[in-house]
Amino acid sequence: MIRMAPGLLLLWLLLPAFSQAQWLSQQADIMGTRISVELWHDDPTLGELAIAAVFDEFKRLDEKLSPYKSDSELSLVNRMAAESAIDISSELFQLLQESRKYSELTGGAFDITFASIGHQYDYRTGQKPDQQRTRQTLPLIDYRHIELDPERKTVRFLRKGVKIDLGGIAKGYAVDRGIALLRKRAIEHALISAGGDSRLIGDHRGRPWHIGIQAPRNKQAMAAVLPLSDSAISTSGDYERFFEADGVRYHHIITPRTGHSAKGVQSVTILAGNALRTDALSTSIFVLGAEAGMVLVDRLVDVEAIIIDQQGALLTSSGLDSLDKH
Ligand code: AMP
Ligand code: MG
Repeated sequence: MIRMAPGLLLLWLLLPAFSQAQWLSQQADIMGTRISVELWHDDPTLGELAIAAVFDEFKRLDEKLSPYKSDSELSLVNRMAAESAIDISSELFQLLQESRKYSELTGGAFDITFASIGHQYDYRTGQKPDQQRTRQTLPLIDYRHIELDPERKTVRFLRKGVKIDLGGIAKGYAVDRGIALLRKRAIEHALISAGGDSRLIGDHRGRPWHIGIQAPRNKQAMAAVLPLSDSAISTSGDYERFFEADGVRYHHIITPRTGHSAKGVQSVTILAGNALRTDALSTSIFVLGAEAGMVLVDRLVDVEAIIIDQQGALLTSSGLDSLDKH
């Protein structure tokens, strides 16, 4: 009979679990963007199930919130809400309330009714509304045209022609939902990225995660690398979806006041506790520009920002002095 010291026995019992613990990482294309999940798990099979659950959640939200799918709940609202108040799911209702909150916080820089004009752009084919069309549509951009009834959970548009789009907040929300699913599965080290919106749980096992900020005018280069743990980070850039015509860069972030692509900065990166917040604020601060944007960031104690201005200079909020700039 083989006799084993108790310590050795324990080691022998635990060894298989330890030896299988590993980093798992997978990518999928959902919501028109590359979703990537990386996590540490003692059991690779459970780890892969967790990743699949995150992708399923992204697919569910895409079906519900996509402005491009005619049977999404959002498309239904866009078709019907100017006729009468529409009953909507409490999830969509909550997202509309959050959107309103960010519209109020940013003095209207964040406004989901940007879509009234935004949906007339096609960045792949270089299509844009002409001046007359822009002038006609501009009065439809105002979040106050969206009436929300919290008792009945209904939404109504106060003007015909108003359209909404949650593209400035939906990916961040989906990342937060994914992180909640991983937490429920007791995962302690993970990163979910959806294009420019990411959130991470814990650290990279003893080291921080390192998240790069892309150099806006050089796809191969990083403008900065941030060591992070337990944080969300979003970048909005004028290089993500754009075309150029007559020397003007038409990109996907719209200034609600003018109906044109926001000018003044090349990218805005926001750090905060959750990805819905960083997503909404990165888009908003892009619209506000460097000066007004930093004033707002300084008012929000839980938020930091890195702005790359039109000259390519990197501006940081006061909490980020020790940044590793490239
Ligand atoms: P992001 O890349 O997170 O800045 O999000 C850009 C997306 O936000 C765009 O593709 C639009 O769907 C949406 N968007 C553009 N302009 C605005 C705006 N002023 N307020 C809210 N959402 C916007
Ligand atoms: Mg954003």
